[in-house]
Amino acid sequence: MRFTGKHRISIVAAAAAAAIVGTLQLPSTAFGTEDTTGTAGVESPAEGTDGADSAPPTGEAPDVHAEDSTVHGSDGTVFKDGVMSLGTQTAPKAATRSAAAASGTPATATAAPPPPSGEGWKLSGATKWLATGYTIKFYDQKSADWLGPYVQASAADLRRITNLPVAVDTKPVGWDYARPKGEVIMGVLHRPCLPPAGEGTMGSTGWKIVRDGTGTANLSCGFTSSSVPETVTSGHAYIDDSFFTPAGKPTAAMGETYMRNHISHELGHTLGLTHANRSLTKGDCVKGTDSGQFPVMCSPAYAYQDKRAGTYVQQFDVQGLRRLAAGAGATLPPQGKVTGIGSKCLDVKGGKAANGTQIQLYTCNGSAAQSWILGKDGTFRAFGKCLDNARNASTNGNKISLYDCNGSAAQRWSVNAKGQIVHVASGKVLDVTGGATANGTVVQLYTANTNKRQVWATPK
Ligand SMILES: [Zn+2]
Repeated sequence: MRFTGKHRISIVAAAAAAAIVGTLQLPSTAFGTEDTTGTAGVESPAEGTDGADSAPPTGEAPDVHAEDSTVHGSDGTVFKDGVMSLGTQTAPKAATRSAAAASGTPATATAAPPPPSGEGWKLSGATKWLATGYTIKFYDQKSADWLGPYVQASAADLRRITNLPVAVDTKPVGWDYARPKGEVIMGVLHRPCLPPAGEGTMGSTGWKIVRDGTGTANLSCGFTSSSVPETVTSGHAYIDDSFFTPAGKPTAAMGETYMRNHISHELGHTLGLTHANRSLTKGDCVKGTDSGQFPVMCSPAYAYQDKRAGTYVQQFDVQGLRRLAAGAGATLPPQGKVTGIGSKCLDVKGGKAANGTQIQLYTCNGSAAQSWILGKDGTFRAFGKCLDNARNASTNGNKISLYDCNGSAAQRWSVNAKGQIVHVASGKVLDVTGGATANGTVVQLYTANTNKRQVWATPK
């Protein structure tokens, strides 16, 4: 990815101050055998995978790492069932695909569907993960030490989203490791992603000059490999050491939040996602008009900037990962609206993701504020945050709001046979105050009874 403007200046300054790592001399076999075949889906996944009838939108870069955004804006982005879509005027296919993704239906009914594009998340060519999942490893001890904690966090997020195995093995494999199927290898290097001379993108050969380390271009990169075109078989990523202090911590210019997003961004590349959320007309990043969020796969600099940093953005990146996992046959965490009394929806008030935002009843409108993902961990998630019973209290009338996911008992719920959403710790349930059906009626915690104001239909 490329940095521009203010961010670029700070990163370049940081890079200049960073210690220079000696030139690496690595054998040509250092990066596995899949990289040099030049077959479809290897390293330059966008090339050759789109049929003539499904050419990428204007301005779409042919390469995974051609360029990150320079301008961010909102230009008619709409949501369909809580999943970002670009305007149907310019992207008629996008709405259909995002609707399919939102309903959890893999868009695989027709033969050889083209990779989705234009709806805020994009695949880099392959449409499936391996059903056996992936193990993420590191080239050397420094890479394991510096990247390990971030990779562990990202892997946990990937497991939760896909319900597939994503393991992390911190025992270094060595720089001459031939990467097998099912493995993603990451390493820290100095300016690892220099484009070849005369080529403006990092392209299919970008990895080769990772041994060079002498150019002026730098920054991190991640690549997908596919031994069969539709399946992500392995990947690798290089993180520029310019982002780290000599002690292996994010530089001050970089910061912890950025680093978390950065690692998730590159890991996303290795596992089949490409730069998301580009405008169909401007080639830039577009955020959702009702969520105000950018995908981490658009640019780490503009993804979640709070405790959600490093997690994949629910309305965007998560949808691409769900598609890849569905291709592998995974049982995905249910996603969709939760409807209650009056056929109205469980809704995040005002569509605000701030901690403490009241949960209410509202007319179903397909917005991200009503798109819930029900995790195996008992969470109900919207906007990448969790349905939370305030202070984990058990008093009737206790506030139900949205809050940073923290794994606590306040955020564990189950749905019983009656359709009640039960706060597991207290045994009390989600209740529409007074049984009113007016928009804005507060949802609270209450002792379970037989009233229909406690009955909900949840996505399956
Ligand atoms: Zn990127």
